[in-house]
Amino acid sequence: MNYRHAFHAGNHADVLKHIVLLALLDALKRKDAPFFVLDTHAGRGRYLLAAPESRKTGEADAGILRLMGEAKMPEVVERYLRAVEANNPVGALIAYPGSPLLVAQALREQDRLAACELQPEEAAALKDLFAHDPRVAVHARDGYAAIKAMLPPKHGATKFARGLVLIDPPYEVQENEYPQIISTVRDALERWPQATYAIWYPIKQRRTLQPFFRKAAALPAKSVLLAELQIRADDSPLRLNGSGLVILNPPWQFDQQIAPALPLLKKALGEAGAMTRLEWLRTEG
Ligand code: SAM
Repeated sequence: MNYRHAFHAGNHADVLKHIVLLALLDALKRKDAPFFVLDTHAGRGRYLLAAPESRKTGEADAGILRLMGEAKMPEVVERYLRAVEANNPVGALIAYPGSPLLVAQALREQDRLAACELQPEEAAALKDLFAHDPRVAVHARDGYAAIKAMLPPKHGATKFARGLVLIDPPYEVQENEYPQIISTVRDALERWPQATYAIWYPIKQRRTLQPFFRKAAALPAKSVLLAELQIRADDSPLRLNGSGLVILNPPWQFDQQIAPALPLLKKALGEAGAMTRLEWLRTEG
């Protein structure tokens, strides 16, 4: 298996992102009609946590591993932990599944995933991972351009009325990423208006995110929900103090499904100054 160590995999941001991702997929699976998932910034699909010589698991120690120690868990959290455990030997946490692997393992026969990854080595690892899964197409290309080229999705004669677009960029050029996301999603909503869009964002200093929230709220979606976990006060601009997802067109009652997870994440992963938010930036009507 083509692994690479990843110090960050399984951290608090992955935990929140992947709980939300799996809950969105479960909502899509309530109906039999096929759905399509586009993962615009997919990564390599699987990350190695434990270097056998050091037994170090990096940020997963303060992320998923702490969560595993909790006694009572809401369904959406249980579901996530089961999905991670399914990629590991019993009683051990060695590998952490990235978003395309979690999606692929949740797909049914009739559903499809397109995963885009720009970095050639990561894209090659992802292609290897899904070499034998005909439901998954890996594209070594820019995820933003893919949105324009691939939506609305089609597969042979199948047109997908339903689906999900996950936008999870690395935010290497922090301030530049937001305008690109907003303009791409505006375009995508014209092409595929009924889909759900989940945009992940880092929280370093939260006040700097206000323009992004205002613009996201003004996008032509039916409704816009925000789910956040801040694991500490956001007074250090250099650290990943938290993260969130802006979810456009969330499924019916999605806020109620995800709500019980947030206090548990705060309790299990939070330090002094931790907080969570579940807010509608816009509601239907
Ligand atoms: N979504 C993944 C998950 O949840 O497991 C993690 C993705 S990681 C945060 C971001 C990835 O985006 C990196 O692997 C990086 O190489 C890739 N990337 C950066 N710019 C990109 C672009 N313009 N289009 C597609 N992928 C890109």
